[in-house]
Amino acid sequence: MNLILLGAQGSGKGTLAKNIAKDFGIVQISTGDLFRESIAKKEALGLKAQEYMNKGELVPIDLTLKILKERIKKPDCKKGFILDGFPRSLEQAEALKKVATIDYVINVHLPYEECVARLTTRRTCPKCGDIDNMDYPGYTGNCRKCSTPLFQRDDDKPEAIKTRLEVYEKTTTPLIDFYSDRLFKVSSLGSPADTYKPVKDFLLKHGGKK
Ligand code: ADP
Ligand code: ZN
Repeated sequence: MNLILLGAQGSGKGTLAKNIAKDFGIVQISTGDLFRESIAKKEALGLKAQEYMNKGELVPIDLTLKILKERIKKPDCKKGFILDGFPRSLEQAEALKKVATIDYVINVHLPYEECVARLTTRRTCPKCGDIDNMDYPGYTGNCRKCSTPLFQRDDDKPEAIKTRLEVYEKTTTPLIDFYSDRLFKVSSLGSPADTYKPVKDFLLKHGGKK
């Protein structure tokens, strides 16, 4: 089963992707994570992408498609995958048609102001990529998985947050219509568990195997 998760930055899309991946045994593919890994390895592709990422702009499509195609060729994707952060434009969605078939698209919805609030207090683990939020109970400033001190991503600072959400609204929301024949909508105003429950039920009903 191949899925796409659509949702603005801060909507909880990544957390939902992790829950689905764990339960259904399919891999989560985040193009943002792939770029950050490439940057960490100081690869040419990552360093080119970084210029756009720091400003909160989309990375050009040739670089994005290259990193995605290499990832979905790997054997762990045979059972299925969840695309988290790809496609982000109609151009990318058209290109994806030539690369993979998509069974369902989950659209995670959260009001704009709430996205900004969650992003502003979001903190990330530099080592394992796990995310946490200063407002969540039990927050210590260290990663819950590997104890490394958390940091604030450059693009989680106010100017970049605004740009990213504007790009999302303008360039990515048209995909909701593009995928209307296979769309499932969920609100993430509640807890991560509240958001996951209806999605899990939907996927079980539509042939997802745990
Ligand atoms: P977020 O979506 O929360 O901003 P991500 O980790 O998904 O964070 O992505 C970080 C950055 O990586 C984006 O702002 C963008 O610059 C780049 N990026 C990720 N996915 C794509 C994509 N599909 N197309 C173009 N750029 C992308
Ligand atoms: Zn960690």
